[in-house]
Amino acid sequence: MATPSPSPLPAPDVPDDTPTPPQTPAATTGAPVCAACGIEAVVHWRRRPTDGELTELAATEQARRDELLLLADPQQPAPQFGPLPTADDTTRTVYACASHAIGLDAASLIHQAACSAPNEKHLPGCDCTPEALPTAPTEESDDGSLSRLPASWTNGGA
Ligand SMILES: [Zn+2]
Ligand SMILES: [Zn+2]
Repeated sequence: MATPSPSPLPAPDVPDDTPTPPQTPAATTGAPVCAACGIEAVVHWRRRPTDGELTELAATEQARRDELLLLADPQQPAPQFGPLPTADDTTRTVYACASHAIGLDAASLIHQAACSAPNEKHLPGCDCTPEALPTAPTEESDDGSLSRLPASWTNGGA
């Protein structure tokens, strides 16, 4: 009874050193990501800043003004600044992916600082009572752009 000779495994003749491109993470630095899961965001809406965010914002603005005052020409009248930003004129942008997006109607409103959206428990709504926008955002329409086209373009060609 002959012992079956082990068949040698085929040696790989192609070395596996093919360079593989590094995987690009879905959330690249700088790109907005979903507040709920961290993947790339596709929608966003606004909410009021929290007390901490507002304090930070006011401190940043104050520092900017202090620097302007330092750089200002002492021979000139000191630059005048308006009031520091308040929660009423400041909003924060909240980003979400497609599966964590709130409804379009809700996204067109400004949410409270304590709003936890995007939160799967409340989707497609949220747990705050959003406020209506003070004024409807008006697109700055450049209606002169069309009339600058040559007549042959607007008439479909001669
Ligand atoms: Zn998400
Ligand atoms: Zn909300």
